[in-house]
Amino acid sequence: MQQFETVIGLEVHIQLNTNAKAFGPEKNEFSLEPNTHISPVTLALPGTLPVANKAHLEKAVKLGLAFGCHINEYCYFDRKNYFYPDLPKGYQITQDGRPICVGGKITFPVEGGEKTIRIHHIHMEEDAGKSSHDQSDHYSLLDYNRAGTPLLELVTEPDFRSGQDVHDFIAYLQKVVQYLEVSDGNMEEGSIRCDCNVSVRPMGQEAYGERREVKNVNSKKFAKAAVEFESQAQIKMIEKGERIYKTTMLFDPENGETRPMRKKETENDYRYFPEPDLAPIKITQQQIEAIRATIDHLPETLAKELSEEHHVPEQYLEVLTEQKSFGQQYLALSKKIGGSRELSDLVVLKLLPEAKAKNISLEEVLSADTVKAVIDLINSGKAAKSAVFQSLIPALFEQSNASVIDLAADLNLIKSENQDFVDEIIAKVMSAFPDKVKEYKSGKKGLIGFFVGQVQRESGGKADPKLVNEKLAKVLNG
Ligand code: ADP
Ligand code: MG
Repeated sequence: MQQFETVIGLEVHIQLNTNAKAFGPEKNEFSLEPNTHISPVTLALPGTLPVANKAHLEKAVKLGLAFGCHINEYCYFDRKNYFYPDLPKGYQITQDGRPICVGGKITFPVEGGEKTIRIHHIHMEEDAGKSSHDQSDHYSLLDYNRAGTPLLELVTEPDFRSGQDVHDFIAYLQKVVQYLEVSDGNMEEGSIRCDCNVSVRPMGQEAYGERREVKNVNSKKFAKAAVEFESQAQIKMIEKGERIYKTTMLFDPENGETRPMRKKETENDYRYFPEPDLAPIKITQQQIEAIRATIDHLPETLAKELSEEHHVPEQYLEVLTEQKSFGQQYLALSKKIGGSRELSDLVVLKLLPEAKAKNISLEEVLSADTVKAVIDLINSGKAAKSAVFQSLIPALFEQSNASVIDLAADLNLIKSENQDFVDEIIAKVMSAFPDKVKEYKSGKKGLIGFFVGQVQRESGGKADPKLVNEKLAKVLNG
């Protein structure tokens, strides 16, 4: 059986979180009440003129810089003409001839490593309104609130090879737009939507196969499913001797299948021409550098700083960089009280879950001073780390103003200063487990952990683990 390779290129639409719309004055805000966020400019009523939005441009440049794109210092808008009821103007303002960003690359994490795909270009445009066809058999409903929302369209080269690649890429892109604060990246609300261009070719063949384009996929899970379904469908067609035609497909999330929407027999003629109502854009190197300076962290630079400068262990990097604010709050805390394994354990295992559950900051969970007192307590050896994590921290969540030492004492967590009782307990444990002692002496050195556990249990957690280890080693090896 012949093997096939799947080839995918994406056109990703990203809604920006600017205050105003792309070319009109109305607020760029999601609203459930239809047709409440729409101005005469966005409807292109006679006598109105569009005005470009500086924030739209700045966010485009910021995203492009994050991915190493070339920024065109000179660019302009075009009109893309077509009729559809959700497009009140009869044309969309977009960029065709000269987009703001070209080239660049995106490296994203995948299971067991990373992948890099090339960017063709990123351009600025505006969103259309929304039509609903499912409310009645006799008419469709139109909501123009979304019309004029500033968008970036990121077009990739056909560098993806699987649905999983596409899924992981979208997950990373979602994170990056949040880090850059250009978009909320919320796919459920349609802030990121993508068209997946899919083709297949025999393994080893260089030329690409004919592609079909699955339109408007609005979740990374659906993108993966759509690509996988489409690729299998095309392989089956080829195996049956059928030919693939360039086709626009729709994905049905109900059954995970794609179906044809329209065959693209000829290219659509959008009659693109430069938008006569908007002047071309010129941006200087100085302005570009000022925008670059607003990029603080990307997921990978934050991870690097946490691990290299603050000694955060590898396995904690993912949770700490899931949101930029988590990682940055960790950095602030670590700079203030000093980074340590105790701090990263405390934050990741205890404070972060609490902060997430209550949707508050780390500082609101426990102040830096309290965190420092907890870590000092652990480091002093006066209380066992496990006991602190298990009982003291939850108690502090309830009474965050309490003194750490007093609360630990109330909870009976402070180890006795006098450790003389340890010898007695060790002797007791030795005589209770003569067989284990024999096994240990005949070479099963791993049993030391068992003895330490027994002694701790007997002592009710009050024995100093370091001391117990030393004493046990002496008794057992002596
Ligand atoms: P168009 O001008 O028809 O929109 P483009 O060449 O601009 O086509 O490509 C649009 C998208 O389709 C890009 O993301 C590109 O990577 C992808 N693409 C192009 N050719 C193929 C192919 N043979 N298989 C899969 N994706 C492709
Ligand atoms: Mg296209």
